[in-house]
Amino acid sequence: MDKTTQKAFKLLREVKSVTFAIVNNGQTAARIIDVMLVKKDGHFLKAVSLRKLFMKKKSHSSSGQGELRVYFYGRHNTMEINGHYLLDTLKQAIEINSILPHEEELASFFADEIRSLGLEPEWHVVSPGRPNVYVTADLGSSDDMLLLTGHLDTVGVAANWETNPFEAVESEGRLYGLGVLDMKAGLVCALAAFKALLEGSRIHGKLGKVAFAATVDEEGFGIGAKALLETDYGNSAGILLTEPTGGMAPFGVVPLGETGKVLYKLQVSGKTTHGFRPERGHNAVEAASKIVAALDKLHMRTHPVYGRGNYSTLKIEGGYKEYAIIVPESCEVVITRLTIPGESRDTAVADMRRLTDSLDLDCTVSIETPAPYYEPFLIDTKSTFATSFRNAYHATLGSQPTFAFKRGISDANIYVTDGGIPTIVYGPNGRGIHECNEYVEIDSLMPVAQILADSCINYFQMV
Ligand SMILES: [Zn+2]
Repeated sequence: MDKTTQKAFKLLREVKSVTFAIVNNGQTAARIIDVMLVKKDGHFLKAVSLRKLFMKKKSHSSSGQGELRVYFYGRHNTMEINGHYLLDTLKQAIEINSILPHEEELASFFADEIRSLGLEPEWHVVSPGRPNVYVTADLGSSDDMLLLTGHLDTVGVAANWETNPFEAVESEGRLYGLGVLDMKAGLVCALAAFKALLEGSRIHGKLGKVAFAATVDEEGFGIGAKALLETDYGNSAGILLTEPTGGMAPFGVVPLGETGKVLYKLQVSGKTTHGFRPERGHNAVEAASKIVAALDKLHMRTHPVYGRGNYSTLKIEGGYKEYAIIVPESCEVVITRLTIPGESRDTAVADMRRLTDSLDLDCTVSIETPAPYYEPFLIDTKSTFATSFRNAYHATLGSQPTFAFKRGISDANIYVTDGGIPTIVYGPNGRGIHECNEYVEIDSLMPVAQILADSCINYFQMV
């Protein structure tokens, strides 16, 4: 036995209870085995590669296939997450339909879960039948509040589901159901972490305020997140938003920031005339087509981290309703554009105006940018809040999180750019967001809840 292994054995004897998770990346050979030991105050003590030890402890091996990581926690060292509670609560949540805008029943479910923890939830009706649910636990003298949150709503049922999308179906380490990944699993991880902190009596009085919020309308216009910012929760020092973007190392990345989004609505106006005498009119559909054909010349800036944004034409509509040989006088074009830092609503409008002006059209073009509008953001990965998260992530998963920019938008854009609140977006693994057969990988749930709870503890130890 080599020295490292001897030392690890000695340390292992001090560990009171053991939790382990196995990550299988589908490859054929076991390659990495890390054992993580955590010392009593929650700080990371020692990470050792224990390939030899693992080989002796065959009982911890599952199939022997794929990449194996084993995580050991001392009972008194980190917050203990109740895995049965997490999975059971998630299964119940999957069976409640919360397709936008019908979030109320799932909101009631979370309100009842909060009551079962002995706290009274706040019920914030954002629009009729669409409530946000909040709760705060006062866990110490710090005035800072950290918020664990996610959205209640899901998109509709896609075609070709192989199981009932409103039934929680467990198969081969996966849990299937509509909205399980986006984002009932993340929301329940947040609740399980909140519960662990609330029930972890040894940390009481040593932290600050920890809150949980379930919000409406992320898949729509973000009215739930905007309404939250109007409450006391808008003063949170940091937000952990459990959208499924982080994933377990080494497979996932944590967003360093997200793009913004501008929706262009172009109204092209010409002049109608008989379709056999087009020279007397101005054809709005033809002018609109020239704009769409020239979009590759739309000015797009480049950012050192983000690269460039992108665009997609979503709709083009003009011409007769009932067949008629008339030159169309109007045409509407809708284009969605992802933006990067340095691009705003104003610059996006100016870019589009420059493009339409360059085309010498015989029609006028009005440019509107209706809701939803989101600004891009970047987070500071060196802040106290981000460091708390990084340390918790490292202690649980054995490596630093990989931060990378994400193409897309979420409520984090609202929390960061409207609310000025540092927001880390991190949640479980899976596949099938907005598609059929959506699932979450069950093994990814516990580490997420653990990292959420430990991030909160780390933060209050540092402030
Ligand atoms: Zn989502």
